[in-house]
Amino acid sequence: MTTGVPTLGPDLERLRADARAFADEVIAPGAAERDRRKEFPTAVLKAAAAKGYWGILVPENYGGMAAGNLGQSVILEEFARADASTHVTLSVHNSLVCGPLMAYGSESLKAAWLPKLASGEALGGYALTEPHAGSDAASLSCTAVRDGDSWVLNGTKMWITTGTQCDVLLLFARTDREAPKAKGISAFIVPRRLPGLTAGKPENKLGIRASETVQLFLENVRIPADSLIGEVNRGFNYAMETLNGGRVGIAVQAVGIAQRIVDETAAFLRDRVRHGEKGRTTQDEDFRLAEMATKVDAARLLCWRAAELRDQKRDHVREASMAKLFATQSCNEIARAAVELVGPAAISGGHVVERLFRDARITELYEGTTEVQKLVIARTYLR
Ligand SMILES: Cc1cc2nc3c(=O)[nH]c(=O)nc-3n(C[C@H](O)[C@H](O)[C@H](O)COP(=O)(O)OP(=O)(O)OC[C@H]3O[C@@H](n4cnc5c(N)ncnc54)[C@H](O)[C@@H]3O)c2cc1C
Repeated sequence: MTTGVPTLGPDLERLRADARAFADEVIAPGAAERDRRKEFPTAVLKAAAAKGYWGILVPENYGGMAAGNLGQSVILEEFARADASTHVTLSVHNSLVCGPLMAYGSESLKAAWLPKLASGEALGGYALTEPHAGSDAASLSCTAVRDGDSWVLNGTKMWITTGTQCDVLLLFARTDREAPKAKGISAFIVPRRLPGLTAGKPENKLGIRASETVQLFLENVRIPADSLIGEVNRGFNYAMETLNGGRVGIAVQAVGIAQRIVDETAAFLRDRVRHGEKGRTTQDEDFRLAEMATKVDAARLLCWRAAELRDQKRDHVREASMAKLFATQSCNEIARAAVELVGPAAISGGHVVERLFRDARITELYEGTTEVQKLVIARTYLR
């Protein structure tokens, strides 16, 4: 029986306060403008690197913060509250690149990449999805063929966050075409700027517009044999295990967005002048706000429970999916309710809730859709 974290201790409270201050001072101020211009948050990320936020999970001997998954949840919630685009860029980098490299990488790959990833010298991207392999990632068809001291990569990756801005990719490719589909996939560390590795135009997205999403094309991309992560043909297991952490990261993104919506909606209602009276609300408005705030707290506790289990290296497949399912669905319900409470300003772009409403939508799609989370949770009861 799992319990989760009722309160944070002093160390985590300090991490949270520092992250809140950084988010308020550095991330939040330009977020609306970056969203409008679809501008990648380069300066913000540089400042985040200087504070150690590129190496949240990375051990101290590689230059990281070693704050664990709970620490990461606490920090990245504050970032999402300020700007979901900055959040996802760093969530992918920390959870989906540093995490699996730490867990499965050889000593030489860790020594080569972790200090760069933790210090801000190298940004990471995660390349699993393909045009015909999204929820069913085991169907991926990008290939890696051994040729002497190299692997040669061919194929197309789709919806890759930070696909041109990153310096290194954790990339999944098929290494055995005869094996059952999940058993013939391997994971590789691929430097981003190699001959044959090109990108399509950035996607024009509904939300998280300041994060970059692109298609990647691999044509005879040659990487050294020791770029393999872990064992050959075990890559799908690594991808799925990594996504347990990533799912908590996106659940946390939903909590950050939702918390900001609650705060902004409460401020709107407090400041609103109606019938000559400031801050006058109806009971229906009070009830809606109470439900929104309660859902945010419940979602946060689910995130903390899953993150704590992950830190304890205990099974957390069900808990990670429950956190993502509940947090992301709640975030979208909260966003819809906020648009009704704030009224026309919330859909005209004149209020921050408009951006938050758009950013909320993606949380139910990536790192496993809502339907996929339901399948995962149900299977843990039925298997
Ligand atoms: C902005 C953005 C950023 C992304 N970043 C990355 C990234 O950095 N790296 C990466 O590898 N991928 C990334 N992705 C890909 C993302 O994880 C996939 O889009 C997601 O897994 C869904 O895959 P799909 O789009 O192919 O949809 P599909 O798998 O085609 O699903 C379409 C619909 O069918 C439903 N569905 C599918 N299978 C089932 C089933 N068995 N039962 C019930 N319903 C089902 C889904 O829930 C969904 O509603 C990103 C996507 C987006 C939009």
